[in-house]
Amino acid sequence: MQADGPNQAEKSYIGVDLSGPTLRAALVSAAGEVARVLEAPLEREQLVEQIARVVADLRGGTSVEALGVGLPGLVDPRTGRVHFSTDLPLREEFYADLAGATGLPLLLENDANAAAYGEYVLGAGRASQSIFYVMLGYGIGGALIFDGQIWRGASGFAGEFGHITIDPDGIQCACGNVGCLETVASAPNIVRRTHERLFRDSTSSLSKLAVNRDFTVSDITREARNGDDFALLMIERTGRYIGTAIAAIINLLNVERIILGGIVMEAGELLLDPIIREARRRSFQPCFETTQIVAAQLGLDSVLIGAALLAAQKAGA
Ligand SMILES: [Zn+2]
Repeated sequence: MQADGPNQAEKSYIGVDLSGPTLRAALVSAAGEVARVLEAPLEREQLVEQIARVVADLRGGTSVEALGVGLPGLVDPRTGRVHFSTDLPLREEFYADLAGATGLPLLLENDANAAAYGEYVLGAGRASQSIFYVMLGYGIGGALIFDGQIWRGASGFAGEFGHITIDPDGIQCACGNVGCLETVASAPNIVRRTHERLFRDSTSSLSKLAVNRDFTVSDITREARNGDDFALLMIERTGRYIGTAIAAIINLLNVERIILGGIVMEAGELLLDPIIREARRRSFQPCFETTQIVAAQLGLDSVLIGAALLAAQKAGA
């Protein structure tokens, strides 16, 4: 039911973030202000129904102009076709089903592209012409924005930063390649590496992490902050992997700003410092000196803000 609110001047949009294990959705104004956030564990097998329910809750009596959804995978925002998602069981009809279930103009966008756009407009990318955004989360994504436009590449899938090979002899990646950056530096893979080393190497067992076998990347970050040498070492090594890949981006693109976001960046400067050190060591100096490497500013809201703003743009706002 479309109930037009009395205040037509303030248009509202809904942004949805499907990039992690928790669905996050919010009402977002045309200026990108987040009015109300809803969160729920992702119902992976019933995504259309779950999103339609959340959208109905958020709408209430508010007039909503469009819906933007950021998701992990290769998606064509013009057609809504999801070509590939390693993390979500999305059917070919996802776009049509969701548009039908909500009755709203719909935009589907890659989660890293959405987050990058949010940061470009309102966060760490403000006042820059060119950015490369890196999402260090449950997977690793990347996105390139030049002069306000997302660079999509020949077939729409540019920016797959997580699938740059970092170790030619590494482990199998979900994408089919071996040794991708994602296989060592995504949140689950940082946990995997930490776990393997912790229970293989008896000298590491002094770490507080050894107490609980089910630790998460946030636990590793917390222990590192508390001065746990082993947790610090794992974050430092993760930073070296990421910095190695960032050096390639600096040499290739010489963008003004590289912005790092996602849950892995909860480690803040503990991770950012080794990333910058390694990127400096491995990149061409004149390129490095004109590229700022900074932490994202919108936190968990970047995907849903960016998705809502892009949906607004598509709807002609
Ligand atoms: Zn891969």
